[in-house]
Amino acid sequence: MGVTVLKGISASPGIAIGKAFLYHKEDFWVEERTIGAHETEAEVQRFLGAVDQVTSELQETKRRMEVELGKEQAQIFEAHLAMLKDRTALDETALRIREERKNAEFAFFRTLRKIVKALRATEDPYLKERIEDVLDVQRRVVLKLVGKQHTSLIGLEAESIVVARNLAPSDTARLHRKGLLGFLTELGGQTSHTAIMARAMEIPAVVGTKRAMEEIEPGAILILDGTHGVVYVHPDEALLCEYRKRKQRWTEMAADLATLRDLPAKTLDGKSVVVAANIEFPDEVDSVSAHGAEGIGLYRTEFLYMMGSNLPSEEEQFEAYCSVVERVAPHPVVIRTMDLGGDKLADSLPIEPETNPFLGWRAIRVCLDREDLFRVQLRAILRASVRGKVRIMFPMISGIEELRRAREIVEAVKDSLREEGIAFDEHCPVGAMIEIPSAVMMADQLAEASDFFSIGTNDLVQYTLAVDRGNERIASLFDPIHPAVLRLIRETIEAGHRNGIPVAMCGEMSGDPLATLVLLGLGLDEFSMSPIAIPEVKMIVRGIRFEEAKAVADEVMKLGTKAEIRALLQEVVRSKFGNLLLEQ
Ligand code: PEP
Ligand code: MG
Repeated sequence: MGVTVLKGISASPGIAIGKAFLYHKEDFWVEERTIGAHETEAEVQRFLGAVDQVTSELQETKRRMEVELGKEQAQIFEAHLAMLKDRTALDETALRIREERKNAEFAFFRTLRKIVKALRATEDPYLKERIEDVLDVQRRVVLKLVGKQHTSLIGLEAESIVVARNLAPSDTARLHRKGLLGFLTELGGQTSHTAIMARAMEIPAVVGTKRAMEEIEPGAILILDGTHGVVYVHPDEALLCEYRKRKQRWTEMAADLATLRDLPAKTLDGKSVVVAANIEFPDEVDSVSAHGAEGIGLYRTEFLYMMGSNLPSEEEQFEAYCSVVERVAPHPVVIRTMDLGGDKLADSLPIEPETNPFLGWRAIRVCLDREDLFRVQLRAILRASVRGKVRIMFPMISGIEELRRAREIVEAVKDSLREEGIAFDEHCPVGAMIEIPSAVMMADQLAEASDFFSIGTNDLVQYTLAVDRGNERIASLFDPIHPAVLRLIRETIEAGHRNGIPVAMCGEMSGDPLATLVLLGLGLDEFSMSPIAIPEVKMIVRGIRFEEAKAVADEVMKLGTKAEIRALLQEVVRSKFGNLLLEQ
């Protein structure tokens, strides 16, 4: 079998060598059919047969999980198995088949929908948690009836590379870290949230790999080169040998860079900048300190809302925020209020399908419409603010009205905490993300009402260049080094400084060593990024004089094309740091 080379987009660096695990995310359509009176008994039997098959498959998976991961992990299948035995659901489905003369999948789907509706309406958190189980069982049985194979990520074998058409951030969140070497998807771009999460999990990943699901069969040996966005299917011994060596070099370079961990991000002529980390989950805090970050410049709290079918309570949020804030102290943590919508969807807050989700009901728009939820989150953040150093940040601010309204709500929440005698940091800074071009145009006004800015280039690039950040087809057009984007960044930094506030960046651009030179030269105060990117950025900052970086930025701002800018930056990096950094 010859080697097949698949090209994609680098999503998370590193090399993985392992076996393919194909993850079919089941898109299914439940067809409604009316069947003949003489067909009903056979249809009931077809239904019960599917339930039996799913039951034995689940029992088998449960057994495997018990051996591989322990009894506790395998426990999750108990609820599924119990549901498959539940007479009410089975009898009601059989009744629908017999009396309404509907096909089995439709009858079962209807029955479970009723159960889900009832569960959603209850106040009981335990019952609410069962919704996901019901939906999972529904998927399994319906897929069996329509003849598709259900693949669950939970059955993931050790030493696997996951291959999928797409992974929603919620799928990625569920990816079992044990045994997962890396993943590749057919869809997605470099700043899609799944790619961002791969970097946070520090596993190599390639996205936008066309035809991956057709070209790769389950169990095929793969080399996944996350740094260069390439995948080799059925590599020969020579290629495997070459990649094992590269993997070794990569590990050595990472170890070398790790020695920079505790050194300050200070230029050769003494200008200091802050290098901080972005996180999605509290358990990433360990990796933050391991990579030498001075605090957290972006905590994406929406992931708390994506973990189950219930909204996180004030107490749950408070605990999560405290666990981050206390461990990161004395460094600050910028807690961003939830940014759901776009590609970040949560069962706990269903959003009706929109034609353009990234231009839709997202982030601060959701918070201002659902003030009830916003207040719960702000209470939890403010309560956590006395446990360390907290800053509050709002996403997707497009103009001053939104910022003023959000700040009014913060003040109202503070008033009620005062009345209740609950402690919070009276001086907790409040800042705005600058990620929409209109916010840049209004930056002076916004700066007057902000204690800090943080530039979100992932969105700023997509809205400025009209390039969907998750669309692999136009991924080459998504470029933060585009002169228009650089002008907007310069304008934001200058407006912030004119008004006496610091300007940070928490988009993925701040972890790109090529961009570091320009951003430093433009006067950016804080760089916040995926922890794994920190050592390289520190290396650049520590290897140049601020005056030189300013001169590079001046030169760059005179250029009119991405190609010229990239060539100039590559030349500077090559001359100062050698080829290795660029290759890696
Ligand atoms: C950004 O848009 O750059 C950003 C940091 O926020 P997110 O990636 O979560 O949209
Ligand atoms: Mg954003």
